[in-house]
Amino acid sequence: MKQYKFWFVVGSQHLYGPEVLRIVAERAEEMARWISDNPNIPCTLSYKATVKTPDEITAIVKEANYDDSCAGIVTWCHTFSPSKMWINGLKLLQKPLCHFATQYNRTIPNEEIDMDFMNLNQAAHGDREHGFIATRLRLGRKVIMGYWKDHEVLKELGLWMRSAVGYNISQSLKVVRFGDNMRQVAVTEGDKVEAQIKLGWQVNTWPVGELAEQINAVSEAEVDALMAEYAEKYDINTDNLAAVRYQAREELAILRILEREGATAFTNTFEDLYGMEQLPGLATQRILERGYGYGAEGDWKVAAMTRIIKAMCEGMDGGTGFMEDYTYHLDEGMEYTLGAHMLEVCPTLAAGKPRIEVHPLGIGGKSDPARLVFEGKAGKGTVTSLVDMGGRLRLIVQDIEAVRPIMSMPNLPVARIMWKPMPDLRTGARLWILAGGAHHTVLSYDATPEMLEDWAEMMGIEYVHIGKDTNVGLFKQQLFLADMAWKLR
Ligand code: MN
Repeated sequence: MKQYKFWFVVGSQHLYGPEVLRIVAERAEEMARWISDNPNIPCTLSYKATVKTPDEITAIVKEANYDDSCAGIVTWCHTFSPSKMWINGLKLLQKPLCHFATQYNRTIPNEEIDMDFMNLNQAAHGDREHGFIATRLRLGRKVIMGYWKDHEVLKELGLWMRSAVGYNISQSLKVVRFGDNMRQVAVTEGDKVEAQIKLGWQVNTWPVGELAEQINAVSEAEVDALMAEYAEKYDINTDNLAAVRYQAREELAILRILEREGATAFTNTFEDLYGMEQLPGLATQRILERGYGYGAEGDWKVAAMTRIIKAMCEGMDGGTGFMEDYTYHLDEGMEYTLGAHMLEVCPTLAAGKPRIEVHPLGIGGKSDPARLVFEGKAGKGTVTSLVDMGGRLRLIVQDIEAVRPIMSMPNLPVARIMWKPMPDLRTGARLWILAGGAHHTVLSYDATPEMLEDWAEMMGIEYVHIGKDTNVGLFKQQLFLADMAWKLR
């Protein structure tokens, strides 16, 4: 994450004279260094410049736009920085923007405060001027307010940086599709051209036959090496090692194609496994564990979102993966969703050591596939779904509280996670359905609704959140009004 560099750009003007500007630059440098070293900050914040004229601001923005190593800009006004100076520059900005409304000093220094102090320390009104112009320009940006050494403030800045990493990843994301979407399914479809225009994603198809050729080309020695890794990381709970070996072949073959294409997400479908012996189960779970995105039944939107949210949450300790709402437990007062998939649940979500097992699939007409079976962790998290509303994309995020599954389900041969959607199962599922949320989601113990909201704002797409305080009537009204607002945009 540290390779993502954010530029700290401090607004000022020439009015104050060189001595004040020297102190501003010195302090800004000190702040950037201190913030960058703080454990709440996953990326790098480096002091870039104190900007004092329209030309300087425009030049910095142009440089930021074309410098691939710049992940975004954090602005702050130590002094007053008249905001008409910022119009031409901000109009050109193509990188995430965070307005950090802070102040060098925490307290008002009772004895020392005089007119020199007042000329130097003007963030309280400087940042209001700065805020006005971004609002007047209708500029999507984050505003963080608070003292720059405070834990909560730095946490917010750190999470915003993670959203910006998601923005940056999105711009060059490539999804490899093996086969098309599952026949007749609506929510996994969508406008791939619009997705590329809006989000930058390149979503293209490769022949399943080519994947089958790659699977057959994997050597026995390569399979042996991977089997040794499986034995170390998982409990092998099957005698059918031939089935496990086939998944190792699939893992290596899929990875080979993804690497060759520079892709970080993929989809497949059980309806198109031409030339393959098994639906990739363990193989897909392993690739997810490595940080790639995946969507089943051709669901390229969830594949890309899985990759993006994994990248945003790198280094956090929860886990993120592809998920599906499978079935409900509707005992009054003990209502839960059971989430799983045919096979492809990411082991980063596991509470314990996963077991490799081989069971029949009963769908797709192929050999019994090996897969990892485990229970998901308990804890708070989110589920996220991106849907194509026709003319626009909508990101739906719901808060969840996962529990260790309340029953053992010994005959269920797949990984499983159990959770309560907020505000409660009945209301939460109702709201999700009203918003058009898919059965496929990205489940994350790390991604917060604020991170996903910031990401959606950076991408310029609609954001809908369902949390513990969501009210059905207001929510329906929000969807209705959003529909009109987005048509006007
Ligand atoms: Mn599915």
